[in-house]
Amino acid sequence: MVKFLDLQKINEQYRNEIDSKINEVLNSGWYLLGEQNKQFEKDFAAYCGAKYCVGCANGLDALRLIIKAYGFGVGDEIIVPANTYIASILAITDNGCTPVLVEPDLNTYNINPELIEAKITDKTKAILVVHLYGQAVQMKKIWTLAKKYNLKIIEDSAQAHGAYYNDKRVGSLGDASGFSFYPGKNLGALGDGGAVTTNDEELAQKIRALGNYGSHKKYENVYQGLNSRLDEIQAAVLDVKLKYLDSDNAKRKEIAQYYLKNIKNPLIALPQTYSENSHVWHVFVIRVKDRAKFQSYLNDNGIQTIIHYPIPPHKQECYNELNYLSFPITEQIHNEIISLPISPVMSDDEARKVVEVVNSYK
Ligand SMILES: *Cc1c(COP(=O)(O)O)cnc(C)c1O
Repeated sequence: MVKFLDLQKINEQYRNEIDSKINEVLNSGWYLLGEQNKQFEKDFAAYCGAKYCVGCANGLDALRLIIKAYGFGVGDEIIVPANTYIASILAITDNGCTPVLVEPDLNTYNINPELIEAKITDKTKAILVVHLYGQAVQMKKIWTLAKKYNLKIIEDSAQAHGAYYNDKRVGSLGDASGFSFYPGKNLGALGDGGAVTTNDEELAQKIRALGNYGSHKKYENVYQGLNSRLDEIQAAVLDVKLKYLDSDNAKRKEIAQYYLKNIKNPLIALPQTYSENSHVWHVFVIRVKDRAKFQSYLNDNGIQTIIHYPIPPHKQECYNELNYLSFPITEQIHNEIISLPISPVMSDDEARKVVEVVNSYK
């Protein structure tokens, strides 16, 4: 079986370094908000090209904390792609804000910047862009709109660590960016983890306080905060893996290029990329009309696949107030997409087998 993703094998590559870092933390006797966080925050901010990085418990919290720190709440609208993982929307509604959904482009799956302006009202506070599946959103038009209407740009970078828009990396393309280090992400911890990057010092400090019960100083609470911190052990592991993120992403890209070049089947629509460095291939998403049949064909031929995602947010039970909405492109995507195996530890033989089986599907 060609596995969709072999996390054990991914982490095994860095086993010795990870082991020794975990031991260092264990021996230090200091497990939260210490030197490991400081070091990782510094290194990750530099990697993204942002001035500040604040660790937190997970990617959803990173986004929740950004919106909370801006003070957006009931009555405020935030523009967000209709085609995204539910967490992008949960971060908005959890703060009491209203998500205003925008259709994606059918072939890149990212928000269509041309459709945003029509959705802006006097209640709009921010545009939450999602660099979905690993590809950085085309920002030019969005920057212009944010300036024109005085909106914040919040990035959901949970799937795109290292992706570029022109010469800038995600995490430095907006006012603040949320990252996830869920084990399966391109930069993954050994459990949950997240971070916010920003160039805004005041915002960074507020987010740091909000994630620590709303206090800058122990037992003095300025805000009604939450508890959302990055463990020292996770920060230490992430700092080890950050060194290899570019080479891991390069291996993903090699496989993606191989798929793009060699998958030739009229029943399959391949993903489009904007440019050479825009995509870090968190997942390789293709479209096929009879997806259930295709998925079982692949499964019968030893290829494991996953669907990212089968039900769009506006059709989820938890958002029945949005269920009446119609987003035909988003719905088509959710009906037809399927993700092929891709990872930094996939072998050439495995990639070859995937192509062979996909091409033989009729
Ligand atoms: C994974 C993910 C999140 C949430 O991250 P967690 O760490 O799982 O909370 C948010 N947005 C997107 C697009 C994601 O893929």
